[in-house]
Amino acid sequence: MQNLKKSVEIIGLTSNEAKLLQERYGKNNIVPEKKENFIVKILEVLREPMFLLLLVAAMIYFVLGEPRDGIVMLIFVVAVITIDVVQEWKTDETLKALRDLSAPQVTVIRDGVETDIVSEDLVPGDFVIISEGVKVPADGYIIKANDLCIDESSLTGEPINVWKDVITNSNDEYLKKNYCYAGTLVTQGSGVIKVDKIGVETEYGKIGKSVSETQEKITPLKKQVAVLVKVCAYIAVFLFMLVVIITYMNLIECNFKDRLIESILSAITLAMAMIPEEFPVILTVVLSMGAWRLAKKNSLVKKLPSVETLGAVSVLCVDKTGTITMNKMKVKDIWTLNTDIEDFNKAMGMACEIDPYDPMEQAMIEYCERNHITKDMLFSGTLVKEYSFTNESKMMGHVWKKHRHIIIAAKGSPERIMALCNLDNKVRKSVSSKMREMSKRGLRVIAVAKMIIENESDIPKNLEGCSLDFLGLVALQDPPRDTVKEDIKNCANAGIKVVMITGDNGMTASAIAKEVGIAGNENIITGEMIDKLSDEELKEKVKGVSIFSRVIPEHKRRIVKAFQDNGEIVAMTGDGVNDAAALKKADIGIAMGKRGSEVSREAADLVLLDDNFSTIVYTVKDGRRIYDNIKKAIGYVFTIHIPIALSSLLAPLLDISSNQLLLLPVHIVLLELIIDPTCSIVFERQPAEDSIMERTPRNSSENILTAKLLFKSIVQGIVLFIASFGIYYIYLMRYNAPVEVARSMAILIIMISNLLLVQVNSSNTEYAYKSFIKLRKDKVIWSVIVITIASIVILFYTPISLILKLAPLTISEVVIALVISIFSIMWYEIIKFIKNR
Ligand code: ADP
Ligand code: MG
Repeated sequence: MQNLKKSVEIIGLTSNEAKLLQERYGKNNIVPEKKENFIVKILEVLREPMFLLLLVAAMIYFVLGEPRDGIVMLIFVVAVITIDVVQEWKTDETLKALRDLSAPQVTVIRDGVETDIVSEDLVPGDFVIISEGVKVPADGYIIKANDLCIDESSLTGEPINVWKDVITNSNDEYLKKNYCYAGTLVTQGSGVIKVDKIGVETEYGKIGKSVSETQEKITPLKKQVAVLVKVCAYIAVFLFMLVVIITYMNLIECNFKDRLIESILSAITLAMAMIPEEFPVILTVVLSMGAWRLAKKNSLVKKLPSVETLGAVSVLCVDKTGTITMNKMKVKDIWTLNTDIEDFNKAMGMACEIDPYDPMEQAMIEYCERNHITKDMLFSGTLVKEYSFTNESKMMGHVWKKHRHIIIAAKGSPERIMALCNLDNKVRKSVSSKMREMSKRGLRVIAVAKMIIENESDIPKNLEGCSLDFLGLVALQDPPRDTVKEDIKNCANAGIKVVMITGDNGMTASAIAKEVGIAGNENIITGEMIDKLSDEELKEKVKGVSIFSRVIPEHKRRIVKAFQDNGEIVAMTGDGVNDAAALKKADIGIAMGKRGSEVSREAADLVLLDDNFSTIVYTVKDGRRIYDNIKKAIGYVFTIHIPIALSSLLAPLLDISSNQLLLLPVHIVLLELIIDPTCSIVFERQPAEDSIMERTPRNSSENILTAKLLFKSIVQGIVLFIASFGIYYIYLMRYNAPVEVARSMAILIIMISNLLLVQVNSSNTEYAYKSFIKLRKDKVIWSVIVITIASIVILFYTPISLILKLAPLTISEVVIALVISIFSIMWYEIIKFIKNR
């Protein structure tokens, strides 16, 4: 790539031209963007059963000749719609921002310089630089090609690699040789293309539409929530009818019209209290906000449902180099065999790229320079041939023509290089033992060899065809990242197995694994063994193993499968073109944002912007927190609805007349206005429990609403019901208080309890004050508290109370309500205390 830049003098479009062209041709999108319509959004909200109920209730009030109540209802309808639309709009914005962050980038030449732009902004006439691992972003002519090979299977359906070049032009073929197509994949080499067609105009755009419109998979969590909603809805419908009948029967002395209206009204009240509209909202808000927070911590979730899977991860397969280690190499040791050190260094340097990208090669060049072998000395002459590095061969070489002779300088894994050298057994043994000694220190060992030939025609076609002179070994250090040791310990506590995958040799890997504290670091499976084992055998083998050495990317898919067959939920990192299959197979495929290829990023569920192992661990931890919070929010919704639903249900049973009801429809909407934001916004912000990384990963088949959670929520709800309804009933019946006062007491209790409930339920083991301390600087939490108190004041102590059929309470009444609220919620703290004992 670097070489390319130098040899091509391309100015490209100016930014101004690009802007004009974009106005003319639009964005480079395969699927035209859908316009969001505000009206449609509101209509969607209106379609929900909750609003139909609200509207019916409002209408009934008008029919009953109580237009004031009707208008109040309508105002509330508007308020609820507003909250819903705002919330949905915010979620959409968040998701859009996330999408933009993960939008594919391309390198173009504009104004004479290479710049990275979002692929969407590409216009016809742009010059795009493509290289291995890049997905071609638009149709275009090849302007420059360097070993350029493209996999066009996404267009043709056949997995053939097509070599592309500038000159050849056979127009009769469907796919031209000097032309490349959007959606195809660069598998080798590099090149520059001049964009011809973009977006829907491309070949891929023409056929691609149907491909990209495939429906999103419904995740287990979504399914569970759908079931939950359905069950609740059925119960609501059943109780609705029950209440209609009972109320109707009770009102035997009234006329038919009154009976009907009255019974429908109380039934609607009940239905409003029972409709589980919050559940889907919780899911989208908590997941999308969770993803957003992760993005700010360098972890980009590409598929929202992955957030829920994260918390269940039980095996973490990570690349050693760059993820566990820093990928900052340093030459630590050199050992030569019958060669003087300068010769060795020269050969080592000549086997590197001229402008190395690989940190290991950078370290080698730097080492040469420190020993007074400059780059000019190394790279004088002409590079006549390259034997490029492949994962399979694990070695590479350069053929340099200097003065009269030709030098082949090669380096690679000692086994492979030694196989090309003519060494007797004794020497072979001493090389091996030196290599072992270096590896055991956690160093990466590379062998260097060379060959001198006279004629250019004698240059072997590939490195395997060379007969090399062995020069020696170089050992490089790549220290582990600072935080890795700590993170691996945390993973072990959290029941997450960390597996190291590397192309490096087993002893080096083992030494590093030992250094960072990976358990079972003496058991190693090599790539060779994987090839020999069947899937069944591998499945058994992987159980006690946490190091895979000398692996090629193709092995990774089998490693993932083996763990999955053991029932594990597997996260796997990858950066190369060949890692895509493993990333797709893994439950969580993690691509590297910095050094990863476009293809790996596309196949991944998660992109790691800083390539850091610690970020993976943080992400898993946060995945657990997010899942916990969904669970807590769902439990909360159950709890808080029980007193509301039960009081609506009990009123007709106790034969309380309709104007004496504890909760009229307005009050239910009022409470709904508090509950809605609480369950999503407040629970979304709950901090992780201290013990979150001390428990084992959750069983991925576990239902979000466990029996335990349901039981707890129901008990909490019933206690709250007894407290609020009890007070109301006592005030009404015993003290003969006006219904407004009795009702206000009960509603106040529910509102205060609501605040306490959030704190108490933020953990099953940690005490409420602890979660409150963690959140004491959270503005949103404080606003919720302030808004609750303010609304209590406004609702009870201003003329609004008359409209809402509430009444101002005396100080002693407020204190009573406060004390009762505390008792009816905080008892759970005692349970925690007993459990913690
Ligand atoms: P990792 O999985 O640790 O990143 P790689 O796949 O990059 O390992 O490398 C595997 C092995 O290939 C190395 O241990 C080394 O022997 C050899 N190798 C890697 N890069 C080079 C290179 N630039 N030149 C020669 N040999 C290399
Ligand atoms: Mg590497």
